[in-house]
Formats: sequence, C-alpha cells, structure tokens
Amino acid sequence: KVRVRFAPSPTGSLHIGGARTALFNLLFARHNNGVFVLRIEDTDTERSREESVAQILRSMRWLGLDWDEGPEKGGDYGPYFQSQRLELYRREAQRLLDEGKAYYCYCTPEELAARREEMMKAGKAPRYEGLCRNLCDEDRKRYEAEGRKPVIRLKVPQEGQTVVEDIIRGTVVFENSVLDDFIIMKSNGVPTYNFACVVDDHAMKITHVIRAEEHLSNTPKQIQVYKALGYELPRFAHVPMILAPDRSKLSKRHGATSVEEFRDQGYLSQAIINYLTLLGWSPLDSEEIFDMDKAVREFTLERVNKTAAIYDVKKLTWINGHYLRELDLDYITDQIIPFMVKKGIITEEESGKKYEYIKQAVALSRDRSKTLDELADAIAFFFKDVTEYEEKGVKKHFCKENAAELLLKGAEALERLDEFTHESTEHAFRSLTDSMGLKAAELIHPTRLAITGRTVGPGLFEIIVLLGKEETVKRMRKAAD
Ligand code: GLU
Repeated sequence: KVRVRFAPSPTGSLHIGGARTALFNLLFARHNNGVFVLRIEDTDTERSREESVAQILRSMRWLGLDWDEGPEKGGDYGPYFQSQRLELYRREAQRLLDEGKAYYCYCTPEELAARREEMMKAGKAPRYEGLCRNLCDEDRKRYEAEGRKPVIRLKVPQEGQTVVEDIIRGTVVFENSVLDDFIIMKSNGVPTYNFACVVDDHAMKITHVIRAEEHLSNTPKQIQVYKALGYELPRFAHVPMILAPDRSKLSKRHGATSVEEFRDQGYLSQAIINYLTLLGWSPLDSEEIFDMDKAVREFTLERVNKTAAIYDVKKLTWINGHYLRELDLDYITDQIIPFMVKKGIITEEESGKKYEYIKQAVALSRDRSKTLDELADAIAFFFKDVTEYEEKGVKKHFCKENAAELLLKGAEALERLDEFTHESTEHAFRSLTDSMGLKAAELIHPTRLAITGRTVGPGLFEIIVLLGKEETVKRMRKAAD
C-alpha cells in the first residue's frame, strides 16, 4: 500500500513551495488509494515555533490538503511530532553504536571550525576527516573527563558510490568520497534531520519519499543511514524547484510567497491548488483549468517535469479570475464578506441581513475582478455613498454645460416610475434623451459616474435596479450639485 508523507519543519509559514510538495504527495496518495501522512519535523528546538505548526495546519486545511494521519488526526504510526519521538532515535543510534556502525565524536565546534578553515586554505573541500573514528577507550575516558559532550557520527564508506534511483530525475550517482562521517545525533541527544527523517520514514512505513529537489543532496546520506540500520529503501522522487520569473530563487522580493498571504490578498484556494498543480505537472489534455479530482485521476510522478518550474503570479491571478466567475455564487458571497468587513464596507452584523443584496452585487460584478480583494472594492459603492469620482470621468461627463441639468432630469424621470425594473428605467432614460434630441449615452455616462464614482462597471440599469430608486436618485442629485 502506498504511504507518503509531507514533513515540514515548523520554522515559518507554509510557502507555495511547501504547499506544492504537500499537494503532489496528496495527489499521488489519492491516485494510488494510498495514505497521506503529515509529520512535523520539530527537533530543531531553537527554530521550531508552535505558532508555525498552527499556521501550517491552518494553511493546509484551507487549501484542502487533508492528511490521513498526523497531528489532530492520529494514526497507527504516531506520534507525528518528531519532538515526541526522541526515544526511538536514541534507541536506533545506540543500535548503530553497538554494531560498530556509528561512533562518538568529541571534537568541539571550535576545533572543527579551525580544521575546516585549514582545509579551505589548502584548497580542499571541508569535510570531517574521521578523527574520532577509531578512538581507544583511554582517549574516550580522557575526553569525558575533560567534560566534552560527544555527538554521534555515522561511519560512511569512503570508497564507492551511492546511487539514487529517482523516479523523476532518473539515476543520480554520488561519489562516497564527497560524503563524510556526518552527525546523526547532536551532543544534546537530539537527532539531525538526515537521521530522524530516515528512522521515521521507516517506522511510518513510507513507500515513496516525494520532496523538493533541494533535498536531493541529502538523499545519499540518508541512503547510508538506511543501509546502516538495515532498512529497506523507499522510492525517491525529487520535484523540481520553483524559480522566480528571472530564474532566481523565489523570495520575499517577488511578492507574496506564503499561502496565508495569498489568502489575504483575495486568492481562492481552488485557484491556488489548480495553479500549484501546474508547477511542474500538467494534465493529459494540457487544459490549464481543472479541479483536484481530475488531477487525482491523472497524477503520476512520471509526468512531473525534471526542469524547474517558473512561478508566474499573472497566471495565478488569471486562474483566480476564472474561479471567481465560475464557482457557486453563494460560495463566492461567503468568501467576499470577510474582505468587505475588513475594508469597513459592511459590518459583520449587516452581512447576514444584507446577504441577498451582497450576492446580487457579486453576481453583477464578479466577471470584472481577478481577486476577492478587487471584487470587494468593486462592489463597495453598493453599500457606501460615493465620495469620490474618477477624475477622467469628471472631466468628460460632469464638466459639460448641461450635465447637472441632465442628471436632475434623469433623477426626476426615475422618481416618477412606479415599477423600478431594468426595462422601465432604461425606457425612462431613453425617452428623456430622445425628447431632448440627445443620445442615451449622454445621460448614461454621467449617471454611472454619479452613482458608482467610476466610468466602467456592470450594466448601468442593473446597477440602478439593485441600488434602488431612492439611493439612485439621491446620488444623481448630489452629483448635480
Ligand atoms: N523537514 C524537511 C523540510 O522541511 C523535510 C524534508 C523531507 O521531506 O525529507 O524540508
């Protein structure tokens, strides 16, 4: 049975790179009727934050990246926090010590740093030279007496090669001479990533390790750990990097990178999922819009690209516009309300009473917006009086000689109507302008500016009807002032 895992270190928020890794694991698990495990790699107590765990879980839930086993879910292979599994790592490290496959190293960080510097000066790649590999009992006792706290290192063969058979990248060969006897347990009894990860992937019966390409260089080390512990190897799949449009490493200066930032900017989870799936993978028909069900049906690791994916916020925004238009209207209405509340367009209490009205405003306007944030701004005029008019519109439509008079007459015509519908309002406008020998547009444009503050937007008569007679007339009169 396929078992995969996403194993974030809780040192910050969930970024799009991490979300994409989690997503590919989920798609692979679902496609193979497997299990998706979430494991929190929090052994680095200095950098791990509880708030970050909460944020990662929140982001994953919001995106719909539902894990089958892990925090809050439980499962047969828990606990799912590495900080709660220290006993297991210590036991396995002790086993390696007993079998002569690992050893205590008493070198201090200062001594190691000094050696590293010498090696670099001599033009050699710095590596641990195995100083403590063959310590005799006497040396060890002396070091202990000096109060040195040892780390545990793995004995890594110095000859030969370590071969990574990667599902995405093919065969990748590493010379063992570039590996050194790396640390598996720190002096404080806490395992290093390369050790804990292997012990857990084995203990949790992980069949496929799907992770970011930046970990490819860790894989030969981990394979050495697998071999030393006598574990069977899982399959490995390293997914390509995500680069900025200029092909540099994606960072803060390229804009939002964390999932919560995207959420707060008004992106929909469906759009982010769709977009992230495209970062390194594409469906069989190359259609760019698809839902998670289709991705699950078609997802295989063989179809994941080898080359880096280029992050393109314009494409994400375009996809977001699609979902904003196409998803269920009630759903979008629910999503827009927090944005409106945050912007002070409505209050939380009003949102319930005005739900139908909000929904109609969304229906009229959502075709024209790309994000929830934009859409909230676009419909603000339905809820708040217009206080500012678009400048170029003022020059064009309000500065004409007869503009004020025309608005007043238009307001009067609307006021006289008993029935206030698209048809009746349009008819009122057209007969007024006809009678004055004007084109309807000459009244429509200033009216739009008067009641929305803008020169473009949804159809004017739809706006008028939704806004209602009283409010429309009031705004037209105010603008005529
Ligand atoms: N904790 C590691 C990370 O966040 C996990 C890498 C892995 O998947 O093995 O990068």
